[in-house]
Amino acid sequence: MAIERTLCIIKPDAVEKKRSGAILAMLEEAGFTIVACKRMALSRPVAEGFYAVHKARPFFGELVEFMTRSPVFVVVLEREDAVAKYRQVMGATDPAKADAGTIRKAHGGSVGENAVHGSDSLDNAKIEIGYFFAASKVAPVAG
Ligand code: ATP
Ligand code: MG
Repeated sequence: MAIERTLCIIKPDAVEKKRSGAILAMLEEAGFTIVACKRMALSRPVAEGFYAVHKARPFFGELVEFMTRSPVFVVVLEREDAVAKYRQVMGATDPAKADAGTIRKAHGGSVGENAVHGSDSLDNAKIEIGYFFAASKVAPVAG
């Protein structure tokens, strides 16, 4: 299986609750290398652009309000099979339906305020990493 990268966002609810370190620790324990990490406040256009695929969904306005409420951490994760493995570690969108031991089960509050984002495919991971990080700012692949 190939070494991949995926994008994690630690969302405003988790940053506000001081769960960022605990979430990064869960990711390291799950075998991910944190290859880039920055704290930033998403502007409305940046949040709308990031979630443009959900523009027609009824919760889009609520989602953009939430993501711009307070700062997030944007994080690039690397490991073998990173996209699929991170989706597993992240857990279901609704924390109430997430498996025990997942980030959303441990730290998510509701379907809207669910602690973390994760890329849903390798193609989208590349697009999402490029949305936040210039190639020159991300450390080269380990090994
Ligand atoms: P993410 O893309 O944030 O990693 P996901 O892939 O599990 O989450 P998506 O279907 O892509 O889920 O939805 C994107 C985000 O929109 C969710 O993480 C959540 O914050 C919000 N969202 C999804 N469904 C709802 C809903 N029914 N009500 C409110 N917010 C929702
Ligand atoms: Mg998604």
